[in-house]
Amino acid sequence: MKKKAHKKAGHSARLRINIWYTVLMTVLGAVLGVAFVLSQRYISTLNIRSNLMTQVEINADEVDYENGILEVENDFTYNQRGIASVVLAEDGRVLAGSYAAFGMDLSAAKLPDPGDSGEILSLELNGKRYCLLDKRVRFNVLCFTVDAATGEVLDWSSESRSDDATSPAPPQMLARAAVRNAYENALLFASLDENDCHLLFAKEENLYDVPVVNLDIHCSEKLFDDVFVRGIAADEGNAFADRKSILLLSILLPVYLAIAAGIGYLISSRVFSGVGNLSRTVAQIRTTDDVRSVRAVSTDIRELEPLTDGFNRMLARLHQSFEAEKHFTDNASHELKTPIAVIHAQCELLIDSATLNEEDRKHVLRIQKQARAMSRLVGDLLMISRLEQGQEYFDFSVEDFSIVVRAVCEDAAVISDKKLILDVKDDVMMRMDVTLMTRLVENLISNADKYGRDGGSIWVTLDKRDGRAFLRVADDGIGIAPEEQEKIFQRFYRVDKARSREMRSSGLGLSFVDEICRLHGGRITVESTLGKGTVFTLEFQLADQKTQ
Ligand code: ADP
Repeated sequence: MKKKAHKKAGHSARLRINIWYTVLMTVLGAVLGVAFVLSQRYISTLNIRSNLMTQVEINADEVDYENGILEVENDFTYNQRGIASVVLAEDGRVLAGSYAAFGMDLSAAKLPDPGDSGEILSLELNGKRYCLLDKRVRFNVLCFTVDAATGEVLDWSSESRSDDATSPAPPQMLARAAVRNAYENALLFASLDENDCHLLFAKEENLYDVPVVNLDIHCSEKLFDDVFVRGIAADEGNAFADRKSILLLSILLPVYLAIAAGIGYLISSRVFSGVGNLSRTVAQIRTTDDVRSVRAVSTDIRELEPLTDGFNRMLARLHQSFEAEKHFTDNASHELKTPIAVIHAQCELLIDSATLNEEDRKHVLRIQKQARAMSRLVGDLLMISRLEQGQEYFDFSVEDFSIVVRAVCEDAAVISDKKLILDVKDDVMMRMDVTLMTRLVENLISNADKYGRDGGSIWVTLDKRDGRAFLRVADDGIGIAPEEQEKIFQRFYRVDKARSREMRSSGLGLSFVDEICRLHGGRITVESTLGKGTVFTLEFQLADQKTQ
């Protein structure tokens, strides 16, 4: 199991916010885009259709028969507002105008026969969309100019009138002799049966000083073939919508996505920069020394200011209490050193005294032994306190770690009942304090010896690769339960208190190892299985990577 395991769970909040923001913006953009295209299409189609209806209606009024000849008035517009207009015979022949207008040459296209549904037809011709409207023109009104004196028809025409314009003229109009006479002559002239006709309008006036009667006669009998006025327009609405959709999908959407993602990234970066600062600050704190120098950088995000301030205040207080604790340990150790030394010296004197009987000497020897143990403990506490204060108390230089490891193993081999198996690489140059590193290796091998199997083995390996040195101390002893593995590096922590006391263990060995390792910029991990054995692995930076 790793002692210091850092594992990131899932995606970062920044990434999640960014993804959600982009998805939201994309959906919003797509909805707005589709709504825009549809509205454009709708408005455009609506415009084209209303123009077409108006134009066809106007043009239908411009077609009539003058003296029996089909005439298209000057006001008839063949092409206006994107609409091509033609006059067609019932069989589809073009009587006036042309389909070639506004870039629409539909002469060769298969156009529908003229019809009088009154509906706008939507059709696709030569790959383009068009809308088409036909209006039937029925020439059901004859207009005459009759000489009032002679009854001669001077001029006549036939035109179309809508049904609401066909109500008969008031009877008193026909009561006038001139009108009655003109009406009869006109019917005679056009060979019309009076039963099929009725007078719509009559007016007596002078035409170039000649008195005439103008008559409009509604005639239910068909005098002339119907014609059709046709309007045809490119359905820009559809074309526009198609172009826009393709443009939107191929260019605008990716651009929009990139912009949305960019803005999302900027927003989330800004929001999380403050949190990032705090996280980096926390990550920097690995030792009590760091607490003094580390400060969370304040951000320009107002909501995070109380958090940053509170965090900095907490760091300051932590620093104070760490300092107080260190000084206490330092002072207490110093203060205890002298009385212990005095007890030790007094014991020496008593032991050497001739007056002391054998029984009392034994008691004094026991006191002296305990005083020695206390002195060792106080020495250890002082050392730990100094280790915490950094490198200033120690003598760092570039040395060969393999020499240190071999020397400790040689000494251990003399006193241990275990078989020491060594695999130590040469020239493992590291910047170190030799005394401290000796102590580190001693502690690890002594533990492997203490907690190893009787008559078992201890494996010591020193390796180097990728600019780093790896020390591995393994045994085949009692092992450490998983829940204990985090705790064994704490000061005075012993797994089996009774057994440790028997072995005169203080519970400071591994906290020494941990502190020394940290002081040398190293990392320690432990892997262990109960009843099978334990492996400690330490990793350090080599002194000069180029030569290693
Ligand atoms: P101690 O002085 O008690 O050995 P350490 O700090 O060196 O103190 O070790 C703390 C505890 O970790 C020990 O009491 C022991 O229970 C456990 N421990 C250390 N090394 C080993 C090992 N190699 N095998 C099994 N247990 C170990």
